[in-house]
Amino acid sequence: MKYLKLLVVLFLFAACSKNIYKISKKEYHKEAKKLGKSLSKIPQDTLGNKLIKVIKSQNFNLRKPNLIVIHHTAQDSCKQTYRTFALKRTQVSSHYVICDDGSVTQMLNDLVRGWHAGEGRWGKNTDINSVSIGIELDNNGKEPFSEAQTTSLLLLLEKLTKKYKIPYQNIVGHADIAPGRKVDPSGLFPWKKLADNGFGIWFDKEKLKTVVLPLGFNARFALKFIGYNTDNLENAIYSFKLRFNSEEVSETLSEKDKKILFLLMDKI
Ligand SMILES: [Zn+2]
Repeated sequence: MKYLKLLVVLFLFAACSKNIYKISKKEYHKEAKKLGKSLSKIPQDTLGNKLIKVIKSQNFNLRKPNLIVIHHTAQDSCKQTYRTFALKRTQVSSHYVICDDGSVTQMLNDLVRGWHAGEGRWGKNTDINSVSIGIELDNNGKEPFSEAQTTSLLLLLEKLTKKYKIPYQNIVGHADIAPGRKVDPSGLFPWKKLADNGFGIWFDKEKLKTVVLPLGFNARFALKFIGYNTDNLENAIYSFKLRFNSEEVSETLSEKDKKILFLLMDKI
C-alpha cells in the first residue's frame, strides 16, 4: 500500500512537471512576441519640454552579450533547476544549465536578458544581466565539479566567446560580481583549469615565489582594477580569495594574496 502511494505521488509529480514546462514554453513565446512588437516601435519621448523627433533607420540588429557569469545551482539535481527556472514565481533564470554528467540545456536565447545575476557590479558595469550570459552548473556547493561538466563548460565557453567576441577577462563568477551577497561558484571550482584553456584570468605560480611588491602597493586599487566592487572592502576580499586562494578564504589579505593581486593586474 505504501509502495502504491509512493508511485501515485511520483506519477503526479512527473505530470505536474510536464505541465510546468508546457506553460513555461508557451509563456516564453508570448514574451518573445511581446518584445518583438515593442522593438518595432520607437516610443515618442520628450527632452525637457520638446518632443524628440523619430526617423527610423533600417540598419540594426540585437545587442550582443559581452560577459559570462558562472554559477553553481546550489540544488540537488538538474531536474530541480529546470523546474526552478521554468516557474514564474521564482523570477530567476539562466541561459544555460550544465548537469553533472556534462549534458547542456539552453533555457533562454543568448540575446535576451536573463535573470541570473541580480544586484551586482563588475568594473563600471552596474547592470550585469543586461550584458551577460548566465551559465549554471548543477552542483550543491559542497561537492567537486565533475570532469564531464567542466569539459562541457570549456566547450560552451569556446563557442560563446568566439561567437560574441567576449574577451577572456570577461568570464567571472557570481561571487565576483556580487561580493557579500553570493558565494558561487564554490571554492572547489577549477578556475585555474579554465584559465589554462584561455578563459578568465589566473596568476603565474612561479612568479609568485619571486615577485616583490612595489612600495605603497594599493590592494584596494588592485581589486578595483580587476573589476571588484570595493565599496565594502572585506566582501571584495572574500570573493577575491574564494576564486584565487580558495584554501585560505577570509576577509583579510595576506602577503601572498597581495602578490597574487599584483600578478593578476599584469594579466589584464
Ligand atoms: Zn549564482
